[in-house]
Amino acid sequence: MKENNILYIVVPCYKEQEVLPETSKRLGEKMKALMDAGKISTKSRVMFVNDGSSDQTWPIIAKLHEERPEMFSGVNLSRNRGHQNALLAGLLTAVNHADMIVSMDADLQDDINAVDAMVDAYHEGYEVVYGVRSKRDTDTFFKRFTAEGFYKVMKALGVDIVFNHADYRLMSRRAVEGLASFTEVNLFLRGIVPQIGYKWTTVTYERAERFAGESKYPLKKMLAFAADGITSFSVKPIRLVLTAGVVVFLVSILMLLYALIAKLTGNTSAGWTSLMGSIWLIGGIQLLSLGVVGEYIGKIYNETKRRPRFIIESVLNKE
Ligand code: UDP
Ligand code: MG
Repeated sequence: MKENNILYIVVPCYKEQEVLPETSKRLGEKMKALMDAGKISTKSRVMFVNDGSSDQTWPIIAKLHEERPEMFSGVNLSRNRGHQNALLAGLLTAVNHADMIVSMDADLQDDINAVDAMVDAYHEGYEVVYGVRSKRDTDTFFKRFTAEGFYKVMKALGVDIVFNHADYRLMSRRAVEGLASFTEVNLFLRGIVPQIGYKWTTVTYERAERFAGESKYPLKKMLAFAADGITSFSVKPIRLVLTAGVVVFLVSILMLLYALIAKLTGNTSAGWTSLMGSIWLIGGIQLLSLGVVGEYIGKIYNETKRRPRFIIESVLNKE
């Protein structure tokens, strides 16, 4: 059997008591099959992260671990911290034991058979393997429209993001260690992982429906998530203010000329020219200044995130 092939599957769970029995069964079978095929070590585990659920989620996880400690492990967060944080907690716990880590949702909407291809890609030397949805037939029109629109907006704002990829992916230990060096608090993993670099590839799969329980991402959370993603990775919205400032300032000059000409040709009432001129000029200067201040805030924002400036993949050097 090959070295370096301990796989951990990290599954964040928030109030998932309805799906956990089935999910654990299916993941257990998948792990067993991969072990029998010699693709992963028998030290591999499924690691459930309980994100402060108020239902039976943690007792179920604890029981799974008690019955089959060689298959299931659990991480219990002190309270609900949200999907991205729960996932990070799982990844950073698993990285101490694993060579490769797959993250997926508890509801098995992401086809677990794609794990085979991910593990194969890992053995071929890929360090990050993104699961990409080939189609979204099972999503409602609304969800599909908003989700795909989101990816497009992100791209337009210059954020490096993999289209139609959620948080279903494999990462090598090295890649997760790279992730650990991103210390920002506003986590948006889909944007951060491409920043880590290393050799990567994608695996496509069909997305299924949640087989039990309800989505933990209602519209409100989805919008907050999208806004978080955009503001964590792009200062382009600030640039827009600056651009608007420049445009309004230029228009103000035209308006000033127009007001003067109108005055000289004599068809204005008293006070109109100066009012007209100052409204546009002051508006333009204000927007422009806001944009300039924004540029600095953008810089401060990027500095406070303390992102790593580089991650080295390999060094060639002879003493
Ligand atoms: N989740 C979590 N904490 C939360 C909300 C969700 O750990 O506060 C987990 C949830 O248990 C699931 C995953 O995040 O494993 C994705 O949630 P869901 O399937 O409800 O989202 P959707 O697929 O509808 O976008
Ligand atoms: Mg889901």
